[in-house]
Amino acid sequence: MKTAYPVYMEADVVVCGGGTAGSFAAIAAAEQGKKVLVIEQFGSLGGTATLGLVTPVMHTYMRTNPQCSYIQKKLVEKQLKYASCNAQGNMFDPLALRLALEELCVEAGVKLLYHTYIAGVEKEGDTVTAIRIVNKAGEQLVKGKVFIDATGDGDVSVMAGAGYTKGNPETGINQPMSLRYILGGIDIPKAGEFMRSEALRTGLGGASCDPDHPYTTLYGGGVASKPWALTEWFDAGIASGELEEMDKAYWQVFTIPGRKDGLAFNCPEFFENIDATNPDDLTISQLKGKKAIFRQLMYYRKHFPGFENAYVAEISALVGIRESREIQTEYVISAVDLYAQRKFDDMFCQSNYPIDVHGKAHNCSFDGIEKDEARPWYDIPYRSIVVKGVDNLLVAGRCLGAEFIVQSSLRVQHSVRSSGEAAGIAACMAIDAGVPAREIDGKKVREAMISLGADYQDLD
Ligand SMILES: Cc1cc2nc3c(=O)[nH]c(=O)nc-3n(C[C@H](O)[C@H](O)[C@H](O)COP(=O)(O)OP(=O)(O)OC[C@H]3O[C@@H](n4cnc5c(N)ncnc54)[C@H](O)[C@@H]3O)c2cc1C
Repeated sequence: MKTAYPVYMEADVVVCGGGTAGSFAAIAAAEQGKKVLVIEQFGSLGGTATLGLVTPVMHTYMRTNPQCSYIQKKLVEKQLKYASCNAQGNMFDPLALRLALEELCVEAGVKLLYHTYIAGVEKEGDTVTAIRIVNKAGEQLVKGKVFIDATGDGDVSVMAGAGYTKGNPETGINQPMSLRYILGGIDIPKAGEFMRSEALRTGLGGASCDPDHPYTTLYGGGVASKPWALTEWFDAGIASGELEEMDKAYWQVFTIPGRKDGLAFNCPEFFENIDATNPDDLTISQLKGKKAIFRQLMYYRKHFPGFENAYVAEISALVGIRESREIQTEYVISAVDLYAQRKFDDMFCQSNYPIDVHGKAHNCSFDGIEKDEARPWYDIPYRSIVVKGVDNLLVAGRCLGAEFIVQSSLRVQHSVRSSGEAAGIAACMAIDAGVPAREIDGKKVREAMISLGADYQDLD
């Protein structure tokens, strides 16, 4: 028997998940004059970037570092207003980013619905008619004309019957997860000098205190498999019982604009129990992560110059998921497309960010494949955000249609932002034309983004 749930709202565009992709999708669609609702399980926008404390926005590794987004420019203006990012906007304070995204949404007329979980999908034929939401008010439906799955894990697409892949094709295991944190109370010049001098003493590098560094003034990072400036310090901590092996597996810190005594940590990282769609694994990461964070804090306080008064300022509310599901879309970007730096007519995003699989990559042979030396980057085509088999569902963000290897590159924030913006604009075009999303011309989506101010490199 089908339950008749009350209808919470009927929108033109329903954005499922208010992370980076969802926020950009919502702003883009609302600025086209559509009635837009964003549904988000937590109490803020930005998802992994804000609640997951992920800074910085990675460089595209292209000459002009094109962001392929007009909203990105408005966002940086907002962040600068709160003195919470550098001039390029790639280094930022994740707390202020929450506010900047909210302001852009509210100004565009987006309706936000927080603390609400998307639990189901209603369909007629190949059309999604509504999603089922659960919150303190009970279970309700949200109806819409076009739905955008920006859940990061492709929850809505899967509930709508879409196919997907998940994890390394050789093992089925997802990329490692992390529980990021921020420490306050650090004497940054002293900590920077410590890391810089260790890099010089050991000759191993991996740490710098450099105002001209592209990301940050103080950077440190290394992996257990390759000795780096602080390896001896982690080994000593493990030998004394103050640290555990997992503490040195992956370690990375960045300074945060606007926080003179703060450092953002891209760790601890987990290589076991990492099924990103298994709630038990997510819980284990939270439990193990918090213990590791406080264990590391006590060690730094005692041994790392500059960390004497450090304290935990924030622990990520959500487990940092690098990769979970990749949704089956009209076109799935292949590893060969990425390696060969393939170009597509319906491109909305350009990137040359490298393959970035943490831990064990799978064996991918690119023998005999030539790169595009003249235009060294790959394109993300519109068809890779059109969910296969569903007429009115787009997928944006880290779970768009791409092979595992490709996802490891396009998961970074610039492409996630661009995919949200493209999805928001395409959704409006589909509504206006009264056609399924797959019939929208991706070239027109890009042209609309350009007319609004998105930048690209060396277009034909
Ligand atoms: C540890 C780590 C380090 C990283 N480092 C970098 C870096 O240095 N630079 C860089 O550019 N990128 C980095 N990335 C990648 C990048 O941050 C993410 O890929 C990107 O932020 C993902 O954005 P998204 O919008 O696709 O997904 P998310 O930000 O995960 O957004 C999904 C949103 O949907 C919500 N949601 C999910 N399911 C439901 C549901 N059923 N109901 C309601 N709401 C739901 C979530 O709460 C969330 O807000 C890193 C990622 C991780 C995990």
